[in-house]
Amino acid sequence: MPHTPDRHAIRGSYVTFCANPFTTPDALVLEEDGLIIMEHGRITQCGPYATLSPLLGDNTPLTHYPDCLISAGFIDAHVHYPQISAIASWGEQLLPWLEQYIFPTEAEFADVDVARRTARLFLSELLRNGTTTAAVYCTVHPQSVDAFFEESARLGTRMIAGKVLMDRNCPPNLQDTAQSGYDQSAALIARWHGRDRQLYAVTPRFAITSTPEQLELAGTLFQHTPGLYMQTHLAENLDEIAAVRSLFPNRSSYLDVYAKAGLDGPRAIFGHAIHMAEHDFAHCHHSGCTLAHCPTSNLFLGSGAFALFDALKPTRPVHVALGTDVGAGTSLSLLATMGEAYKVSLMAGNTRLSAAQALWLATAGAARALHLHDHIGLIAPGMEADLCVMDPAATPLMAQRSARCTSLAERLFTLMVLGDDRAIRATWANGRLVHARAQTQADAAVHTG
Ligand SMILES: [Zn+2]
Repeated sequence: MPHTPDRHAIRGSYVTFCANPFTTPDALVLEEDGLIIMEHGRITQCGPYATLSPLLGDNTPLTHYPDCLISAGFIDAHVHYPQISAIASWGEQLLPWLEQYIFPTEAEFADVDVARRTARLFLSELLRNGTTTAAVYCTVHPQSVDAFFEESARLGTRMIAGKVLMDRNCPPNLQDTAQSGYDQSAALIARWHGRDRQLYAVTPRFAITSTPEQLELAGTLFQHTPGLYMQTHLAENLDEIAAVRSLFPNRSSYLDVYAKAGLDGPRAIFGHAIHMAEHDFAHCHHSGCTLAHCPTSNLFLGSGAFALFDALKPTRPVHVALGTDVGAGTSLSLLATMGEAYKVSLMAGNTRLSAAQALWLATAGAARALHLHDHIGLIAPGMEADLCVMDPAATPLMAQRSARCTSLAERLFTLMVLGDDRAIRATWANGRLVHARAQTQADAAVHTG
């Protein structure tokens, strides 16, 4: 076979889905000794190594990951890149936490050098955690969005991002106006939306920091640009909900504030949605909205416990994906986030999230929730080649626990309860290696032994 420069193959155990594990048993599929062949950024073939290896010929570079578990790259449906510098800030709940820690941090992004430096660090941290797609809040400054997309385009990652809109109830140096926010967003959409793998999200921070006029204009943008996303926060904290009620007394609920402005529908991503009434879930189901469940953030800010299985009720399921919500979240690792989602789900309603279900919420289910399932989220021919290679024996403790695992579910559960960036051996995006963990003693033993 002739050598194609962009062609590469990976050998190892891999997991993917043949169905939704919330509705179908045995939806998780394991290929114990698998081969994934990638060309020009896409998976062209995958299956048993024994069957496919003759297709490799002599010229296809092959990377072997023995003793690892390969998954589609993780998807983070809610995260703030400017806030990585303010992660782990002590002592407050949502509204005072924003005032005290987040607004001053975001104000630094008036300086484009801060934006570029932080975007580089943030994206390299995502890749170190096996995350290849994220829905990302930038700041109110348009240059924070340019800096982010420039770095993502350089890496070849598929990202969703947007300029935060805020025209009231925040420091003056972070305020736009309804019109300037609209104009700046429109210019960024023209520059970035659909360029290579970059996608734009209209991003009003939340109802408290936008006037009705700003929300209306955001809704106009969202409804009139094909494939555009919308992201905002919804019903995270009780004080926040009370403030929204007093600012919008004529709306029937917090969600109704957004719905009346045209900010609902497919590709509308609402962060948190912890304190929801049944009619709100029903509205999300009927209009096709997505909820981003951010368990480490729920716990860190003491906001409450998201009722995952209520949201997914089989009679009116709502799209749900996982989010890290850094800087209110405490880790950029989707593995750690899956582990916390398990705990929050027990707290919220004594419901048990299986390892396969948690992985679904961070890969194929998230892709479906974001309407990207034709592109990412599965290991299958035709999908974009975004992969994360997990190491179940990344630490001595994990090695000890994993050695006792007798099933795939148990191995995955161990990874999500004990794993984090250390458990990500490598990350591939668009068919290229974009992160390789520094060699541990265990890796060295494999290579020299
Ligand atoms: Zn958030």
